[in-house]
Formats: sequence, C-alpha cells, structure tokens
Amino acid sequence: MSVTRVVIAGGGTAGWMAAAAIARTMGRMVEVTLVESEAIGTVGVGESTIPPLVTYNRLLGINEAEFMAATAATFKLGILFDGWHTPDSRYFHSFGTTGRDHWAAGFQHYWLNGRTRGHERPYDDYCTELVAALQGKFAHLPGDATNYAYQLDSGRYAQFLRNMAERDGTQRVEGRIARVELDGETGDIAALLLDGDRRIEGDLFLDCTGFRALLIEGTLHAGFDDWTHWLPCDAAIAVQTESVGPPLPYTRAMAHDAGWQWRIPLQHRVGNGIVYCSRYLDRDGALDRLMGNVEGAVRTEPNFLRFTTGARRKQWHRNCVAIGLSGGFMEPLESTSIHLIQRAVLRLLRLFPQGGIRPADVAEFNDQQLQDMEQIRDFLILHYKVTDRRDSPFWRQCAAMDVPTTLQQKIDLFRQSGRVFRRNEELFGENSWVQVMMGQGIVPEGYHPIADKLSDAELDRLLSMIRRQVADTVATMPPHGDYVARYCPAD
Ligand code: FAD
Repeated sequence: MSVTRVVIAGGGTAGWMAAAAIARTMGRMVEVTLVESEAIGTVGVGESTIPPLVTYNRLLGINEAEFMAATAATFKLGILFDGWHTPDSRYFHSFGTTGRDHWAAGFQHYWLNGRTRGHERPYDDYCTELVAALQGKFAHLPGDATNYAYQLDSGRYAQFLRNMAERDGTQRVEGRIARVELDGETGDIAALLLDGDRRIEGDLFLDCTGFRALLIEGTLHAGFDDWTHWLPCDAAIAVQTESVGPPLPYTRAMAHDAGWQWRIPLQHRVGNGIVYCSRYLDRDGALDRLMGNVEGAVRTEPNFLRFTTGARRKQWHRNCVAIGLSGGFMEPLESTSIHLIQRAVLRLLRLFPQGGIRPADVAEFNDQQLQDMEQIRDFLILHYKVTDRRDSPFWRQCAAMDVPTTLQQKIDLFRQSGRVFRRNEELFGENSWVQVMMGQGIVPEGYHPIADKLSDAELDRLLSMIRRQVADTVATMPPHGDYVARYCPAD
C-alpha cells in the first residue's frame, strides 16, 4: 500500500511546481511521472506573485539570480490600486511593514492618534517598501530586510521548473489523457490512459489539469463551492505588450466600472489583462477597454478566459490531490493562485502518505487547504465590498452584497477601533489588512488607548524618526531597472 509512484496530470505552473518540489524533497524514494499535452497547452497567465515564493525557491535550493534571469523576472514590492475607493483614488498595498508596532498595538494606532494631534503625513510615508516602490527603486537590504516577490514570465517559469524536475529524475510524458481508469474494487484512480493506447499507473495522482479538473471532478466528482455571489468577476482577457520604460517594481490593479485591469512589468515585456463581470460587460466591450488602456505595442493575440470563482469541496479525494486551478480559483487581484499551489505542494509533502493513504491525513489536508482559500477569499471580497463607488450596476451590486461573517467581523472591529488580528496563520497579516481597509476608505473611529501614553514630544520623535529612517533607506537604493539589469539580466 505504500506510495512510491506519483503521477502528475498536467504540466502548467502547478504541475511543474509540484514535480520540482517532490522530486527534490523525496529524491529516489518516489518515482515521479508528469503527463502534459503541448497541443492543449497551459492557461498562459499567472505572472504576479507574493513574498512566500521567495521562501519556496529557497527551500528548493534555487539560485535567485539564475531563476530571475531565466524567467525574465522583476522584483515586486506590492500592488498599486487605482480607482477602488472612488474612481479617482489610489492606494498601495505593499509587502513591507509600516512603522513600528508595539506588542499590544499595531503602528496604525499611533498614526491614528497622531492625526488627532495634528500630524498629517500619510500612513504610506512610514513603509520602506512602499516609498521605494513609488520611487521606482529596489535593493536587497541587509538582513533580508526587504519584503518582496517576483513578476515573472509564467511560461519560462514552468520551463525552469521542468529542467530542475527532470534533472532530479522526473519522467515527462507527452500526450493527451483520453480517459482515467478506476480500480474496480476500491474506486481509486488506477491509471491514466493516453491517446495511442499508453497507460500510466500510479499510487498517488496529482490533478494539475487546470480548469478542466479532469481527475478530481471529471472522474471523482469531488464537488465545487461556487463563490461568484461574493466575487462576481467571471472572465478575463490577457495580452502582452512591449515595455515603454524601465520596469516598475509593482503590479497595477486599475478598477473600471465592471471589474479591473492588471499591468505586470517584466524585464522584456509587460503583461496586461482585464478582469470583468460578464453580466455587465460583454467580450467585445472588455477587449476594447483593454486595448484602449495599454501602453506599448501589443505583441500577442488576446487570450480569452472564463472562470468560476470557488473551491473544490475536497481538494484531496481518494488517491487524488487537486493542485492549482483544478482545486479552485479566485481572481488574481492579490496574486494568490501560485501561492495556493505552493501551499498545497508543501502541505502534501508534510502529509506525504506513509504506508498508504489514511483518512486523517486527507482530512487534515482538506481542512487546512480550505481554510487558506476562505481567508484569501475574505481578503479579496473586502476590495469590492468596502468602497464608495456606486457609479455602475457592478459596484452597486458589490456594495449591496452580504459578506461572510468572518469578514464582516473584521470590518466592524477595524472600523470601530483600528484593530485587526491575523488568525490561524492566515496569509495576509495586520499590515495588509490595514493598508487595504484604509485604502478602500475605512477611517477607524478609535485607536488603542496605549497610544495616548506618549507625550506630544515623544510621539513627534517616534513618527519623525520612522519617516527619516524610511527616507534615508530608500535614498540608498538604486533604480529598480538598474538593479535588475546588474543582478539578473534576462537570458
Ligand atoms: P494550466 O496552466 O491550465 O495547466 C494545465 C495543464 O494540464 C497543461 O499542461 C495542460 O496541457 C494539461 N492538460 C489539461 N488537460 C489535459 C489532458 N487531457 N491531457 C494531458 N494534459 C492535459 N496566479 C498568480 O499567482 N498570479 C497572477 O497574476 C495570476 N493571474 C491570473 C490571471 C487570470 C486571468 C487567471 C485565469 C489566472 C491567473 N493566475 C494567477 C492563476 C495562475 O495562472 C494559475 O494558478 C497557474 O498558472 C497554474 O495553472 P495550472 O497549472 O493549474 O493550470
């Protein structure tokens, strides 16, 4: 009953991230086979990431400069949100820490208190990554003090991981999976049947077939929870354009009247896409809007995508684990999908079956994975729900919707007292919630009383010292484009 043959169906970002990690971690203890079809291809998007990917790469022993050169990657310090609170507003969700926290009270309490005493400098001025991003600068600060992620070419990323996985022993099989064979006795997956009468047997199957979810849903019918009533966008169009200037160290998310548009600068080009709700905007209208708001010559045909936001009810079912889009999808507003792949892969490795697949391992995996997805879902809903925009039916629908209790509680607490707590190892911490909640227009009515303890002079000293440290640090950083060109020029 031991699991020694791992078969991965699909070779997009999910398939190759899984193959690379399993082959490197488990070594020759397992035999990894990956089946993919060039004719079917991949989803072809997924270029903006979040900081835990830096750790993932380190765990796998990946050299950062090599990886960035191979994937034409740039550094990402956060996301600039245009038009989310009101059509003319903008705010930045940075990966950095803002100010300096007291153990009992986050920095926002001191800043809010400062406003009542006449301090008017924006909250943003207290975060190094944020100030650096808006000045187009980047550097690795000593002691790993810069919090960053990558903007990368997803096709090249899959190729990079493929090279690594194959070096570590993964067998790649080219071909279309025509059928999935079940074991007549157990109901588990026994083998993948490929065109041309090829048969690939395994003990554990990873469904990385993207939106098709060929194994987990098409064969095992694990079920799907639809979250469209909370996250109503269901379509996207992506195009690539030439760069018109040095790459910026951040992704842009520009709201429009039926969704939003992304712009992701890589070394050699820019990724663009429009995400929209098809109830309020049709495909031609969305394409016109996207093409009317890109910079630089368009270099690819538009990639039209449809999706249903939600989560597979059982991410691990029988001897099949869904990783990537087959496990569910939430729109890319906070660049969380590749992260969910990473979480699933690392979780699977932690719970890797010993002497057969056991229900307790499966249940633990499913609970943790679903919790991750629900926490991210709440954070995304926040962007749509908390806004003063009422200028289109789309935004009016968002403002009127009921949100999950878990999110409503967070919003109420923050609105009342500026407090927000990171629960159960959730991905987005206090810094992220504060920046987005304030950016979307919540001004807390109160703050932690501990902030009153500081005299005017002490508070003034604290605030100006942090601002000075931020400004001095950013002054030492070179332009992001220069740094990238020296550190990891694209191959
Ligand atoms: P895919 O890339 O679709 O790969 C599926 C694989 O399965 C392919 O190799 C295909 O050939 C294979 N396959 C399917 N059927 C068969 C068959 N019958 N036989 C053989 N092989 C088969 N994520 C982020 O983290 N950041 C972002 O900025 C981001 N932006 C996104 C924007 C949009 C509009 C969308 C839709 C997604 C975005 N994502 C983003 C998500 C990201 O693209 C995916 O999480 C990531 O690419 C993983 O996809 P995948 O590997 O699960 O699926």
